[in-house]
Amino acid sequence: MTELHLHNTLSRKKQLFSPINPEQIGVYACGPTVYDKIHVGNARPLVVFDVLVRLLRRLYGAQNVCYVRNITDVDDKINQRASERNISIADLCTETIDTFHQDADALGVLPPDIEPRATHHIDEMIEMISTLIDKGFAYDAEGHVLFAVEKMASYGGLSGRSVDEMIAGARVEIAPFKQHPADFVLWKPSDETTPGWQSPWGYGRPGWHIECSAMSGKYLGAQFDIHAGGLDLIFPHHENEIAQSCCAHNLDRMANIWVHNGYVTVEGEKMSKSLGNFTTVADALALHRGETIRYCLLATHYRAPLDFSQNQLAEAKANLDKFYRATGIADKTMPADIDISELLAPLCDDLNLPGCFAALHKLAAQANKGDVMAANKIVSFGDILGLFQDSGWFTQADDDGISAEAIEALIRQRNQARADKDFATADNIRDQLAAQNIRLLDSAEGTKWERG
Ligand SMILES: [Zn+2]
Repeated sequence: MTELHLHNTLSRKKQLFSPINPEQIGVYACGPTVYDKIHVGNARPLVVFDVLVRLLRRLYGAQNVCYVRNITDVDDKINQRASERNISIADLCTETIDTFHQDADALGVLPPDIEPRATHHIDEMIEMISTLIDKGFAYDAEGHVLFAVEKMASYGGLSGRSVDEMIAGARVEIAPFKQHPADFVLWKPSDETTPGWQSPWGYGRPGWHIECSAMSGKYLGAQFDIHAGGLDLIFPHHENEIAQSCCAHNLDRMANIWVHNGYVTVEGEKMSKSLGNFTTVADALALHRGETIRYCLLATHYRAPLDFSQNQLAEAKANLDKFYRATGIADKTMPADIDISELLAPLCDDLNLPGCFAALHKLAAQANKGDVMAANKIVSFGDILGLFQDSGWFTQADDDGISAEAIEALIRQRNQARADKDFATADNIRDQLAAQNIRLLDSAEGTKWERG
């Protein structure tokens, strides 16, 4: 079996992935806070870690991998947005989760094995917070419970920051009830306008970080294989998850490997809600196919910044056309488990997707010369990338173009004209379709067509 190496943020090195139990591989990724539609920057981790999980399933067997991606459905941004829109928090969450699932589906992202919602795990969070208080890592002050960062000697290990640097860099909230300015909230009080639950510290709600510690612990165990997320989550979110989970469970490690994807940028600046330079996935999908956006999100190395532009999308579409044309000769009766080691090797080298695409382009050139095995390798590997599986790629409309039915009808008329030796009419129909970017491919088996 090809060995998988991943860059571990914790060790700052590429290292061999060696599962705790190869029959129970656990992967956790932080999911969306459901107050608004996701943008293309939010979609990058979804797509990248979907490929990682598909790869793990191919290497270790689908039944041996458990992928957990949560939904954060309690957050002050949700409260604020529901109030602005004058709808209930429950309705806002339901609507946003539905849209999120549609977007993920359109991008070819498979559903995780478990998709826990934070509000369904309040008991687990309260239990974990109680444990942290009992062990002396957290304290209760004015209805808040805070984690005392100075009690944990290794705090800051993931981000490599000292506590002083954190205070300087992260605009930590100064509050009179904090023992140390870097202490972070595990629980905070709620009033009648904010959602809340009864707890030993009064009516309140959890902080964001404790959610992921409680949910990953419940479904994957206190220590598991891989924790994934965007680069912007390293500090404070992931640093604090590690602090909570390690201190509650007496462990020196939460996940063995931490993988982080790079930012999506627009003209060199990070795509973000706060800068307003974002494209929602829904808006991108109105103009481009999901697979084109997915290709675009995979074409750059996952740890490098990815500049999202019309040029990148056009290039992705042109490359997909090329690969779909090359796979046209694939033999559908060939077993799926063919040797694709030349493609797995770069993917297993810290998900080197640019290396995979270079190898795929070579195979496409061979397939174009009639090499059926090369075409089948592209299709087989495409299943791990979530690409090249659409049998209707060349026949679906990108916009309000001429329908497939209308094209087929014109082809039938043209065939009749040719049978009648009325070549003027036959040519006329071909030109008419060409004007609408429909290309006809005549062969002994009949006439096929493609959108240009
Ligand atoms: Zn998280």
